[in-house]
Amino acid sequence: MTTITDPEANPTAADSGSAGALGVLPHWSAGAEFPGESDRSADVYDPATGQVTKKVALASREDADAVIAAAAAAFPKWRDMSLARRTSILFRFRELLNERKGEAAELITSEHGKVLSDALGEITRGQEVVEFACGLAHLLKGSMTENASTKVDVSSLRQPLGVVGIISPFNFPAMVPMWFFPIAIAAGNTVVLKPSEKDPSTANWLAALWKEAGLPDGVFNVLHGDKVAVDALLESPSVRSISFVGSTPIARYVYETGTKNGKRVQALGGAKNHMLVLPDADLDLAADAAVNAGFGSAGERCMAISALLAVDSVADQLITKITERMATLRTGDGRRGCDMGPLVTGAHRDKVSGYVQAGVDAGAELVVDGRDQEFDGAKDGFWLGPTLFDRVTTDMSIYTDEIFGPVLSIVRVSGYDEGLELINANQYGNGTAIFTNDGGAARRFQNEVEVGMIGINVPVPVPVGYFSFGGWKASLFGDTHAHGTEGFHFFTRGKVITSRWLDPSHGGLNLGFPQNV
Ligand code: NAD
Repeated sequence: MTTITDPEANPTAADSGSAGALGVLPHWSAGAEFPGESDRSADVYDPATGQVTKKVALASREDADAVIAAAAAAFPKWRDMSLARRTSILFRFRELLNERKGEAAELITSEHGKVLSDALGEITRGQEVVEFACGLAHLLKGSMTENASTKVDVSSLRQPLGVVGIISPFNFPAMVPMWFFPIAIAAGNTVVLKPSEKDPSTANWLAALWKEAGLPDGVFNVLHGDKVAVDALLESPSVRSISFVGSTPIARYVYETGTKNGKRVQALGGAKNHMLVLPDADLDLAADAAVNAGFGSAGERCMAISALLAVDSVADQLITKITERMATLRTGDGRRGCDMGPLVTGAHRDKVSGYVQAGVDAGAELVVDGRDQEFDGAKDGFWLGPTLFDRVTTDMSIYTDEIFGPVLSIVRVSGYDEGLELINANQYGNGTAIFTNDGGAARRFQNEVEVGMIGINVPVPVPVGYFSFGGWKASLFGDTHAHGTEGFHFFTRGKVITSRWLDPSHGGLNLGFPQNV
């Protein structure tokens, strides 16, 4: 029985730019709002009320070309701006972000639905990358060797690419773009960000913040849209690289199309993250972790745990502890101090509910049914509560598919070997975690598991900003992970200079291949 509280509630959300009162959120180009020529737009919902709160522009090819041209025009000056000046703009952006991130968190909650504390958390994790990028002068240092050959010096340096495209998903409207743009900008590139059309306003807020921080117009631009905008970025000769994050089919498409068009591409895809709980684990810690990582942000995280591999001998005990904790969770409007918010759209909620029914139909044991709960929010919100299945088998769609919702599936395994085999057989390899007090087992796991990011008694092992983020297999196309030193490598290209300053004693003809003497 579903009980809806406070059906009239429609809490105020911070509006962004000129899009209030069902206006159309415009693009941001050359330091100002840019409405574009296209008459296409998409609805933006408040997921906690189910109401359309604004529309967002969907770019035409001409709109996209205009925004890309603004970024290209800004490139030469920005490329040549001193590292000292770039650094001071980044520091200023960091300070403004730190002071005002509450505004952005409200925007995120009003369009994504995640609870306010979680929205603030994603901005803080993105801020880590801004702080890392403030060290740009050190990170962009080249190298120099004197007398590589007699009186010949060799030096190397890295230069920016030009216009770089960033295409981001709905689930982290601030953090995922911030995995890339602080480093891209620090390295001297100009940026066109194509955010998700489901929660687009944070991108405009960030653009206005950059302007306030003193970033020259045209260095950071926002292009709103769908496939038309994405294809424009993939095909424009002015765009030198693409950083994509989203679902695996689109990541594959972006990688294949972008590289075919001569761009460097990093395309991060979907996930199905497993958590393996060995019998010697601290089961209270494991139960806390499973609930936090399974239901945080309503499971709409690429690092969410969605399959829990429990060794048979402790599975019953672990399930009891998990269900006790689930009973304390409050699902509702993210502005009301709830633990978990709604799903991003009605269509996505229905899709996830469909998976729950598919699990029941396939014979999994539904321990907690999220469809049958009380929600602290408006009646039309996109609600689905935390859901737990036991005795899930590997042929069921709730196991094989990325659900991207608050559904945790328990698969019982005989021990470490069977657990490892399942994780390594999965098409995805984004994140995984092992819970154990056996250091030897943990060490074997980190060595043997075919996944990019590993947690040992840590359920959501998102690397800090100065390390790099990225999965393996169908979770990442391309070889460069996001942020950290790999980020600086991605957003620059190398040049090696071999120089000799002639003195009168040196010279003469020699048609042989140059050798170092
Ligand atoms: P999505 O693939 O639907 O959309 C991602 C971006 O691609 C958006 O900007 C969207 O406008 C664009 N897009 C959508 N369809 C397109 C098409 N046909 N052609 C061209 N562009 C298109 O993903 P989403 O639903 O916004 O985000 C959820 C997905 O992102 C999940 O699969 C999740 O695992 C993944 N994700 C992965 C990571 C990671 O680090 N690997 C991080 C966050 C999210």
